[in-house]
Amino acid sequence: MFEDLRDLYQEVIFDHNRNPRNFRVIENADREVEGFNPLCGDRLTLYLKMDGNKITDASFQGSGCAISTASVSLMTEIVKGLTEDEAETLFQKFHDMTTGKNEEVSIDALGKLAVLAGVREYPARVKCATLAWHTLDAAIKNEQSSVSTE
Ligand code: ZN
Repeated sequence: MFEDLRDLYQEVIFDHNRNPRNFRVIENADREVEGFNPLCGDRLTLYLKMDGNKITDASFQGSGCAISTASVSLMTEIVKGLTEDEAETLFQKFHDMTTGKNEEVSIDALGKLAVLAGVREYPARVKCATLAWHTLDAAIKNEQSSVSTE
């Protein structure tokens, strides 16, 4: 990865960590799921507002490290307006990217989420980056009220 690009990615992560987007409670949320990453201590509650199978609003509360906060902040921005299926597809691509399973996942397909690609070089941080998405997955499936990465 080019150094310039790496710097840019870090800028975006710092920015989302300092000023998390959608850091609020949605009153009367249709889905509310807690996510916990015991390895790092990241904890979040994800709220979704649904219209049929479409996510019309997403927000979160909680506290975690810079990577987990930036990841959930970016995710709540990106999934707004997506259908459940589209969000699940994005989760799969994001998961493949962060776990290094698919090095070819294009930056185009992931948009801003590509800033988190660097975590694959730090296996301990992968769960920080994917916590938000595992929580979203549980919220979409609507079967559990909490998830843990362990
Ligand atoms: Zn973390």
